Amino acid sequence: MEFIHDTRTPRVIFADNALSHLKDEVTKIGGSKVVLVCDESARSVAETIAEELNNLIRQKVDHVVMHVPDDFTEPIIALAKNLGIDIVIAVGGGSATGLGKILALECRIPLLAIPTTYAGSEMTPIWGRTKNNIKLTGTDHSVLPKVVLYQPNLTYTLPQSISVNSGMNAIAHAVESLYSPKLSPLVELAALEGISVMASGLRKLAQNFEDQSAREELFYGSMLCGFTLGNSKMGIHHKICHTLGGMFNLPHAPMHSAVLPYAVKYNEKFAQSQLAKVANILGSETASQGLWDLSTEIGAEYALKNLQFSEADIENATQVISSQVLVNPRPFEHDFVVKLLKAANNGTRPDDESW
Ligand code: NAD
Repeated sequence: MEFIHDTRTPRVIFADNALSHLKDEVTKIGGSKVVLVCDESARSVAETIAEELNNLIRQKVDHVVMHVPDDFTEPIIALAKNLGIDIVIAVGGGSATGLGKILALECRIPLLAIPTTYAGSEMTPIWGRTKNNIKLTGTDHSVLPKVVLYQPNLTYTLPQSISVNSGMNAIAHAVESLYSPKLSPLVELAALEGISVMASGLRKLAQNFEDQSAREELFYGSMLCGFTLGNSKMGIHHKICHTLGGMFNLPHAPMHSAVLPYAVKYNEKFAQSQLAKVANILGSETASQGLWDLSTEIGAEYALKNLQFSEADIENATQVISSQVLVNPRPFEHDFVVKLLKAANNGTRPDDESW
């Protein structure tokens, strides 16, 4: 057994009335000049927050852009610095949290996050931004939120397609953490529980889209999966999604859903015991097949070709992936990465054994 246990986590309040803790939490952090960031879907929640915090709010941003482009964020950061903002509150999906993190990073201020999707960014110290169409990411513990408020009813409005793809995005974090080097056994427990809870919640949601207990389960699962992302190293799946997202601006969560079964197939013979645990949770013969079956059962995205990705771009993307540092059970093998991308593009069940 060999592991490093050095986990970090925000303070988390998970409750039906989590937002009622907001003022206290802001006071405890010591914030008195707030920039409130929300995406379009969270505008009415942000209005309620603004009323509650009243004279603490100094700056509001109610529109965000996926992958946090610098030309969008620069004026927002400049204004925050001018106003002497000392805390950022971000409410919305991963893109809102992402802008919150860049404000935390640039202004050196604490972040309080109120997520509304299953992306899990609120549990990680990883920031992302786009400069000249190149997506950059980094890790800085100053961007890990000080506090996260999970209020399940904020996810009730998530449309079906965002729910299921965002759920598969969360599962991808936990699956890749399982074959991360020197994984803490506690993070592994969170990953296994996260996959189990997400799979069960997603299946329940597919049966009954109004199922509020499934929503609660999924939000809890997304917290666990986000925690595993923040406390392990991601492998080829995240490398591919990062590259395709940056190069072709593919939608984040559906792209994760489409790539995951094939990235797992690529690793299956190289991380056998860990991926057997995933297969066991999903009730399938192999993890890759179990993930494909889950995503098709719940109506998540299963093929990159449906996202306007073109097979003609595979070689180019493979070259870019090959130029990056890869921490993964199976080393980079050009022909098999091409095979992986072709399979993810077509979306057929990963039954072929010649990997
Ligand atoms: P998103 O934040 O772009 O949201 C997708 C859409 O859903 C948006 O239109 C948003 O307005 C809407 N939405 C959000 N919550 C809603 C709700 N409750 N009801 C109705 N609509 C709602 O997408 P995402 O998948 O949450 O996040 C993707 C971004 O997060 C990417 O940029 C990705 O790189 C980043 N991310 C970062 C990390 C990290 O650790 N740094 C982890 C995961 C994702």
